Amino acid sequence: MDKGRITANLEERIKPIPKEKRIFLKRSKALEKYISDYKEDDNFRYNEWQHIKANTILLYSALIESLSSNENTECIEEMAHYFNSKKRENRIIDNKPFLRRGPEWFDEMSEIVKGMLGIETDRPPVFENRHLVFRHPGKYDADKKEITLHNINPYFVPEVVAHEYIHHAQYAFKYSMSWKYNKVLLEGMAYPLGNASAREYAFESGNLIALRTGSSYLSEGLMQTIKLIKEGERHRKTCMERNVEHYPGIAAFLVAEAKHGKKIYREIIKSPQPAEYLIKKLK
Ligand SMILES: [Zn+2]
Repeated sequence: MDKGRITANLEERIKPIPKEKRIFLKRSKALEKYISDYKEDDNFRYNEWQHIKANTILLYSALIESLSSNENTECIEEMAHYFNSKKRENRIIDNKPFLRRGPEWFDEMSEIVKGMLGIETDRPPVFENRHLVFRHPGKYDADKKEITLHNINPYFVPEVVAHEYIHHAQYAFKYSMSWKYNKVLLEGMAYPLGNASAREYAFESGNLIALRTGSSYLSEGLMQTIKLIKEGERHRKTCMERNVEHYPGIAAFLVAEAKHGKKIYREIIKSPQPAEYLIKKLK
């Protein structure tokens, strides 16, 4: 695949869908019930966990298969190189926005995501945890429907806010039952689209520094995927124990974006079979 086309698609800026044309998403009753059963009922949770695990291994394996073609591995390596080059980005036109507290980024970043996807949703409460340091820079609680932001590098906040808002939207997609608790799809979409939103913010504002930290996560995710492709089939069964199941998801969404542009995000959220849609886009 042509390198120029990969870069052009990663840097593509699609026209946001105007507010009056967006679709208002609301969480379905079925998903509300599922989440409360999952939380309250030990038997239900145990049985569901077996399903989730089996489905995760299936999807993980299918993505590894599709990503292992010569064309796709070359594309992954090229993108790892691209995101790696953004690790040293330090251009700041205006430092003022970065003096804001995390929750103050919410309106600006959720608006970018909404315009990209053509959706509207209710507004989740956004909290800030200033004291504790966690492994994850932010968290979306699907049960309480709230976002918590941890104390992180201020240049990384726009991307993290977009990422956590994307999780909020995912639980309201029309076919949300096929997304629920599927980390391959949920994180596979949230990392690349969260980063694409930060890219949009960076190109718009000139503050390219907002690309730095997230891009280094993506290049790491892509390199991890190359390693996982080289593993034998029997290793795939332990992807969840090793906490690597989201990497092929991230790589798959990025390859689809590099091949077809950002419209894939608009299309996949309308698909009754998002996993199948994603695999088709890797061909
Ligand atoms: Zn996430």
